[in-house]
Amino acid sequence: MHDVDPSHCPVCGEANDCAMATAAAPGRAVRDCWCTAIEIAPERLALVPEAARARACMCRRCAGADEVTP
Ligand SMILES: [Zn+2]
Repeated sequence: MHDVDPSHCPVCGEANDCAMATAAAPGRAVRDCWCTAIEIAPERLALVPEAARARACMCRRCAGADEVTP
């Protein structure tokens, strides 16, 4: 059992650039996270360990955000 770090991707361990996590720092305005702007495929969400669900966001790469063409 290990701690869930909300600022890092639970899948690959890279910084996830999640607004929900960074907004928790004092003096920072809450902004919408990039992850609210994209749809994450169910098969990608399935990669997130049970313990990390609803705690840590995935990073853009694991969520597939970089594969979406505008
Ligand atoms: Zn990742």
